[in-house]
Amino acid sequence: MSASNQSRITHFKNLSTLVAWDAELGSHVYIENADLVMRGNTIVHAGSGYAGPADEVVSGSGLMAMPGLVNVHTHPSSEPGNRGLLEELGSDKLGQSSLYEYMPVFRMGIETAPYANQVAVSEMLLSGVTTFVDMSLPRPGWADVVAATGIRGVLGPMFRSAAWRTTDGHSVEYTWDEDAAEKSFEAALDVADSAINHPSGRLSAMLCPSQVDTCSPGLLKQAQQAARRLGVPMQIHAAQSVVEFSEMTRRHGRTPIEWLDDQGLLNSDLIIGHGIFLNDHRTLYWPHAYDFGLLQRSGAHVAHCPTVFVRRGIALSFLGRYLRAGINVGIGTDTFPHNMLDEMRLACYVARLQAGNFRAASTQEVFNAATVNGARMLGRDDIGRLAVGAKADFSLVDLSHPYMRPGREPLRSLIYSAGDRAIRDVYVDGAQLVRNSKLLTIDIENAMQQVERAQAQTIATVAQRDYAGRSIDDMSPRVFPSRA
Ligand SMILES: [Zn+2]
Repeated sequence: MSASNQSRITHFKNLSTLVAWDAELGSHVYIENADLVMRGNTIVHAGSGYAGPADEVVSGSGLMAMPGLVNVHTHPSSEPGNRGLLEELGSDKLGQSSLYEYMPVFRMGIETAPYANQVAVSEMLLSGVTTFVDMSLPRPGWADVVAATGIRGVLGPMFRSAAWRTTDGHSVEYTWDEDAAEKSFEAALDVADSAINHPSGRLSAMLCPSQVDTCSPGLLKQAQQAARRLGVPMQIHAAQSVVEFSEMTRRHGRTPIEWLDDQGLLNSDLIIGHGIFLNDHRTLYWPHAYDFGLLQRSGAHVAHCPTVFVRRGIALSFLGRYLRAGINVGIGTDTFPHNMLDEMRLACYVARLQAGNFRAASTQEVFNAATVNGARMLGRDDIGRLAVGAKADFSLVDLSHPYMRPGREPLRSLIYSAGDRAIRDVYVDGAQLVRNSKLLTIDIENAMQQVERAQAQTIATVAQRDYAGRSIDDMSPRVFPSRA
């Protein structure tokens, strides 16, 4: 942001509703007929009655301003290419997960990553996400691609000691290669440096040892030391599949959560994606542990991404239980689409279904998870809230959209009815990135064409990578057969 932009004052005047942060209450609150004012990239007023100067005044009539959403777990470099292929796939004999038999086989080439990233970020911005955690394999140029979209990005380069594969569809083999791990760890540190020092000022970093079952204790120790040195959090996939739980208990006689604790990793510097398969999950028979209590006492955070699991009949048990025990849970989209409002609606519903109790996740709890909880796990108190001194990251919601009316409860209407259809304008770091529901910074048509080309290539060559040499129609049949 140039010097002149840094002092430019924009006044969103007389907003019908402002979702502001009340520090005393420690809660978001609604303020009617309110003013939101930003100076450069910072909020300087969030409440009623602004009487100061402004370079630009924007009418807030018929609009709700709400804090930008924080998406704590995504794989934008690959997920857009799975659309239409992966929604209904899992392995019957590998805990219904798609991780082992399908995802490695469908993965697009890394050359498509920048375009897939643009597609994913477009979906996020249009659904009100202003900060996201991008968990991808290290690659040169990554930081510039994310920065150019205008979003606030936390680059989470992934690295691991072992790769997994199945050669029979019912067992998983791990191939360990510590030299390769060392190289990808070094590349991850380069990515972290490029993010932390990026001139945009909108990027930061997180270190992401990929999965609890693919990282050696030595690699995890190195990662922890580097994360502490850089002052950044870590995120690891753990308690995410039955296969992983069985593998960790087979190897060590310890649950994934116990093993992380054994390694000295289970603390408030760690985010666990997805923290589902605790020993007391109803699909496991492992009563002699207390993962939930361990998690609760540790201060570790959980990235909750319901869509990708619910597609396979799997769910966290259950959101309200975790939150009310004091476990800090944020929301991530993990799979496609990167529609945060859809994810939030599902988070409400799936918790209630899991618990058999309509009070198992409230709208307030889920909105907090998608804003301040996410910010907290990133170590920030200047995003996910609209308050003086916070970053100017927010959305303007069109309250005149039919799905937003009658207008008694705008956040409920947004989450349960309107979704991204009512998100009109999105600002990040004081800059407008979405206007009238249109992206200003991403050439979505070009990006989409590149992803389509890559998916076509994946489809054409899938038999070469599948252990059983199957065609795409055998692996992922279309909904109806084609007829001439
Ligand atoms: Zn993930």
